[in-house]
Amino acid sequence: MKFLYSDTQDYVDPGYDFLNDRCGPGRERYWSDVYAHELMEPAPYDGLLVSMSAVRQAAGVAASKVRYSTREEQRLLRDGARRFLRYGGPRFKDAMVMGDCGAFSYVEHPVPAYLPEEVLEFYAEAGFSHGVSPDHIIFDCDLSNPSERAVAPAIQQRFAITLANAEVFLGLVRREGMPFEPLGPVQGWSPKSMAEAAHRLERMGYGYLAIGGLVPLRVDAIKAVLTAIRERIRPETKIHLLGFAKADSIHEFADFGITSFDSTSPLIRAFKDAKANYYAEGADDRLEYYTAIRIPQAMENARLMQGVKRGQFSAEDLLRRERRALIELRAYDRGASSVEATLDAVMDYHQFLLRGDGTGAAQQDKSLDKTAALVQRTLEHQPWKHCNCAVCRSIGVEVIIFRSSNRNKRRGFHNLGVYSRHLHKTLGGPA
Ligand SMILES: [Zn+2]
Repeated sequence: MKFLYSDTQDYVDPGYDFLNDRCGPGRERYWSDVYAHELMEPAPYDGLLVSMSAVRQAAGVAASKVRYSTREEQRLLRDGARRFLRYGGPRFKDAMVMGDCGAFSYVEHPVPAYLPEEVLEFYAEAGFSHGVSPDHIIFDCDLSNPSERAVAPAIQQRFAITLANAEVFLGLVRREGMPFEPLGPVQGWSPKSMAEAAHRLERMGYGYLAIGGLVPLRVDAIKAVLTAIRERIRPETKIHLLGFAKADSIHEFADFGITSFDSTSPLIRAFKDAKANYYAEGADDRLEYYTAIRIPQAMENARLMQGVKRGQFSAEDLLRRERRALIELRAYDRGASSVEATLDAVMDYHQFLLRGDGTGAAQQDKSLDKTAALVQRTLEHQPWKHCNCAVCRSIGVEVIIFRSSNRNKRRGFHNLGVYSRHLHKTLGGPA
């Protein structure tokens, strides 16, 4: 099973100065920076997925989803995605670079933001190895399998648009002799309707299907969908899971003949999850998670600065506590401080992230106790010392500190590496 990372222009500054929290001298965004596959060996994924909506602004596309400037878009199309993403050469020549439309970004819009002709041209110019026909997301998934007549006209329309686009798209791919492998996207309102869509795509001539709309679904619903689809299609037809948020439960889907899936979740959890920020390989082939230690830069933290403005805290006092937490944690890493003293320093600063949130002292104390228990576990286990990845080897304890994007993204890269290794160890696939 291949794991694709969905590119959102994630790179870090290799010259970042962690002690002073400054970029390396003369650093130029993107040009000096490195992607996860440049920093880590082996690369922490088997391929990249690039969404057209992250690259090109269009009517109906949420501006927040566009990650590329116009110049970057032009360069990507002129040089090709492999060169732009520095994901070419002998090391990556067999790695997949898949394009899709990023249907999430125009989900509110009545029709997809791009026409099949436009999408085809975009994929060809970017030099992708695989390309998904433009789909339109259906979020509903009714396990009772209502008939087409029983669902809202807007849903029927999305179903019809996705299939009509797929037919046009495949016709164009064939006529123009496109060098990429086309994927037919499956959208539907129930397991049965998705199986029907999969069947029709297969009849059109697609040998690789991309299953969409799984994001809000629970594991049992996804299983119902995949069971229904597998029953209607040939065993050799390949399946890709689009935007698969339940990456850590992928083992539950091992029997469905999944060829590939894409996810951002190991990276995102490094800085969006409330407690599972750092991945580690646990016993019995299971992933284990640790909470990162929050020591934000006081002067750049919105919540802390609000408190200062309101006169609740003093800036000097916060800075002093912030420094003490950092010094203590680094000393602990060197064996020059204890768990207790470090936990005390960390929580002494951390409390200000909660004080002033309006929930009352009792609630805050409860929440602080919970955090302290999680931080204590991280300190006791010192997981960063047991990881051999390029990130942990080079920055050590800094990887576990929840502070500035250069630490948080590196922790995300580490997570991708642990995840990818775990996946291939337990399910096979490229090493
Ligand atoms: Zn690591």
